[in-house]
Amino acid sequence: MTGDGTRAVRAGLPEPAAHEPSLPGPVFAAHFHLPGDAVGPYTYGRDGNPTWTLLEEGIGALESPHAPAHTVTFASGMAAISAVLFSQLRSGDAVVLPSDGYQLLPAVRTRLESYGIEVRTAPTAHDAQLDVLDGARLLWLETPSNPGLDVCDIRRLADAAHERGALVAVDNTLATPLGQRPLDLGADFSVASGTKALTGHGDVLLGYVTTRDAALADSVRLWRKTVGAIPGPMESWLAHRSLATLALRVRQQSAGALALAEALCERAEVAGVRHPGLPSDPSHGLAVAQMRPGRFGSVVSFTLPDRAHAERFLAALTLVDDATSFGSVRSTAERRARWGGDAVPEGFIRFSVGVEDPDDLIADVHRALDTALRGA
Ligand SMILES: *Cc1c(COP(=O)(O)O)cnc(C)c1O
Repeated sequence: MTGDGTRAVRAGLPEPAAHEPSLPGPVFAAHFHLPGDAVGPYTYGRDGNPTWTLLEEGIGALESPHAPAHTVTFASGMAAISAVLFSQLRSGDAVVLPSDGYQLLPAVRTRLESYGIEVRTAPTAHDAQLDVLDGARLLWLETPSNPGLDVCDIRRLADAAHERGALVAVDNTLATPLGQRPLDLGADFSVASGTKALTGHGDVLLGYVTTRDAALADSVRLWRKTVGAIPGPMESWLAHRSLATLALRVRQQSAGALALAEALCERAEVAGVRHPGLPSDPSHGLAVAQMRPGRFGSVVSFTLPDRAHAERFLAALTLVDDATSFGSVRSTAERRARWGGDAVPEGFIRFSVGVEDPDDLIADVHRALDTALRGA
């Protein structure tokens, strides 16, 4: 039985061979030598690439260490999400989405409805999606949810969905496979944006789908080939290189996020501090039950009194970039309402803790909060 950190260091690497690198470099090829019949593994660059294969084996080893699984990588998280939804749903089907999930889900909903698919939504908290499951073909979960950080019970929802003949997909972006393993909890698909904590350096867009069902994997792979939402070899290689440090980053960033959340709870002007690792958080009990200890993610969310206060705070930070996305080794924070897609207050901040020393980061946050409090 190997630990996650040990597994992550070697995930997807080929057997050691004399005079070969441990992680082979990116293979740049639009086509491969193909004498005779058009059979794989490598024929045309939209169908398969050896750099993807190694990364897919690596991610699969983390998402499903104890059972064989198939991973399909994509150009972005949205490409991966769309691949599951659009490969599995047909006109006349019903799908259940979270009402508080990733900000592009409403656009996906409009597209699904234009194809004659019924879309139902319910909040992540309190497993509310259970109430709208009857007759659905697919249940989509996002836990912890972005940016609200609510948690739902994957096992309970997956069992209820399977009883009704529905498939279950979990957006595992925030937790990463080291924080949570949805397939072990009964999901059919674990789907994620590798753009965030999985790659962790804020320099790559990537997505993936992992499933233990070969037929489901084939249909997702055929979707990738059909729409062409393929990852670049360079991005795939960078992602694979980043897997080796995933355990270190998740551990450090989760600990930093918890320390920051605790510090924020002490501030009178800060409301609604959320982080699944915080013992007082409404999600904490469930998070402890289904996530890995001490790996509750890098994200902390909280609300400042108003938009101007939040903007003063962000401008006063010196160690934290005002930028979207999360999970990077460099801390980022943003006023989430600037995007318009989430139901959040004007002063709502989504903060992602990087690998800086937590004491430095917390001191910077206190300084910036003091500055914001003094006014414009
Ligand atoms: C960022 C994100 C996505 C979309 O991923 P991209 O790589 O940006 O396409 C999907 N789900 C969640 C929870 C995300 O945070």
